[in-house]
This record gives sequence, C-alpha cells and structure tokens, in this order.
Amino acid sequence: MTARILSGIAIRNQIYSELEAEIAALASQGIRPGLAAVLVGDNPASKLYVNSKIAACGKLGLESFLITPPATIPTEELLDVVGELNRRDEVDGILVQMPLPKQVDAKRILEAVDPAKDVDGFHPVNVGRLVAGRPNLVACTPAGVMEILRRSEIPVEGANAVVMGRSDIVGKPMALLLIHANATVTVCHSKTRDLKDVARRADIVIAAMGRAAMVTPEYIRPGATVIDVGQNVLKEAADVERIFAKFPDKQEAFRNKGSVLVGDVHPEVVETAGAYTPVPGGVGPLTIAMLMSNTVRAARLRRGKGVAGAAGGKR
Ligand code: NDP
Repeated sequence: MTARILSGIAIRNQIYSELEAEIAALASQGIRPGLAAVLVGDNPASKLYVNSKIAACGKLGLESFLITPPATIPTEELLDVVGELNRRDEVDGILVQMPLPKQVDAKRILEAVDPAKDVDGFHPVNVGRLVAGRPNLVACTPAGVMEILRRSEIPVEGANAVVMGRSDIVGKPMALLLIHANATVTVCHSKTRDLKDVARRADIVIAAMGRAAMVTPEYIRPGATVIDVGQNVLKEAADVERIFAKFPDKQEAFRNKGSVLVGDVHPEVVETAGAYTPVPGGVGPLTIAMLMSNTVRAARLRRGKGVAGAAGGKR
C-alpha cells in the first residue's frame, strides 16, 4: 500500500485564492490589511522565515511593515516597539519572530502584543479563548493542520488522535483543536512510556517533536493518517543514507546541496500510512497561509467587518 499524499502546497493555493477574493472585497471598502513583522538581530533562519512572510503579504496584496531592532535591544525598548505597533491603526497583525536574544524577556514581549493583533495566536487571551472553545486567532501551524484534515476530508470526529509533542506553539493548541473537533486525543511527550504502542492505536498521528525520522512504520497502524510537522535538517551523509536508503533522489539532492530536510516521520511510513503529509511541501506551506488568514481575520474583526469567508471562517 502507498499512502495518499496530502499536498500542503495545493491546500495553501486553495486558501490563497479564497483569501484573494476576501482581500479584494475589503479593498473595495478601502481596507488593506497590514502585517507588522518584528525581526530582532540577524539570525539567518529567522530572516528567511520573516522574508517569506513578507513575500506572502506582497503576493496577496496585504500591506507589510518590517521592523528590525538590533540584537542588543533591551526588553523595555522592545516593549516600546510593540506598544507603538499596537497603536498604529494601519497595523492589523503583529508578529514577533522567535527566538529572541537571551537578554529579552520573550514572555513579556508576547504578552504585550494587543490580543486583537496577535496573529501568531500566542497571547494568553487567545490561548484562553481556544481552551474555552471560542477561538479567535489560533496558532498558525496547528490551525494549518486542521485545514489539511478538513480539506482532505479526513474524518476527525470520533477518531483516535495522537499528538506527539506538547509545545505551546504546536502540540498543545493542536490537541485543543482536535478536542473541539470531537477527536479522542492523546498528547505524548518525552516522558511518555511505550510511545510506539500509544501511536499504533491512532487513526490520526500528528508528529511535532523535532526528532528526525523518529516515527518509523512500526509506530503506525496500517491505513492511519500521518501529519508530519517536524522540520529537521540532515547534514551527515550517514544519516541521509540510513533514513533515505530507499530514496535515491534524496541522496542525490544531499550530494548536491550538502543538506536535506526530513520530518519527524520516517519516509518509509509512506508504505504503511493511509495518507500522509510530505516534508517539505506538507504542513510547512500552511503555516504562512494561516498567518495570512489570521491577518485578514484580525483586520475584519478590528474594523467591524465580521468573519465570514475564507480559511478559518468556521472558527
Ligand atoms: P519543541 O522543542 O518546543 O517541543 C518538542 C516537543 O516534543 C516537546 O513537548 C517534547 O517533550 C516532545 N519530544 C521531544 N522528543 C521526544 C521523544 N523522543 N518522544 C516523545 N516526545 C518528544 O518543538 P516545537 O513544538 O516548536 O516544534 C516541533 C517540530 O515542529 C520541530 O521540528 C519544528 O521545527 C517543527 N515546526 C514546524 C513548523 C512548520 O511550519 N512546519 C512550525 C513550528 C514547528 P517534552 O515536553 O517532554 O520536552
């Protein structure tokens, strides 16, 4: 059996075309949603992420503002930057790219973002609303996973879902979204005993641990849906040869580039799962799509335009 591949790129494109219609309707009312990205210092990975978010805004016709304080900025000054963005009326969404330098109190910064502009969904008010089953702005990656499941018509109600990972940005909000979608949810973490046995009971496995190819076919009940959130960069030839033994194209890509991306799910799971998201091209594209969707949603809510419409409208 070979799994059905759930393409995040196709789903992202669907969401973008819905958002484009919504953005055009807002434009006809003189509204152009705006996203402000705060990029502290010059971490290359963070720069790359922020640039792709800004590029997505450009592609969809959203306004974007890039603020780049130096790596040495103290917490108080960064709080002022956030405060200023909270006050600016043309800013509908604010994202502060993580990680922040060590001297900055990241929790204080995230809590300073106006919950109405918190498009990452990290503010305790938005987390609390999610817990209470009245979500507003939801963390982008788990929201994207729900879009993949819904748009791929994977039944969630009544399903046994196993979430591997309990981080604030992926695992916990993922579990809450699944609970509200009427799945029976088990949340696993590094202290979970017999993870393999727990995982094998799942109809839906969500892997979000940051452990390269850890979820091998023995973790997966034949036919289960496997969603791979993990993004791990392999740089050692031995790892690539072991993990991608049956995938000569990936070995070739590694020889050309010197690195290759792998999820938390072993690529051979494709032979056991019923459906799965590839890495790259699975969950990754949805994260930015949901950020765009949250920005449009924040604009509508803040400007009193309701929330009918595209991705996330059913929240
Ligand atoms: P964190 O490091 O914050 O959390 C990892 C979680 O996995 C923790 O809860 C940890 O348990 C658990 N874990 C670690 N090792 C094991 C193990 N051996 N067995 C069981 N559980 C384990 O990571 P994030 O949630 O931020 O990210 C997870 C992965 O998702 C990463 O690969 C990241 O790159 C990727 N990611 C991808 C995104 C995308 O857009 N596709 C967006 C965000 C993240 P414990 O709590 O006990 O430590």
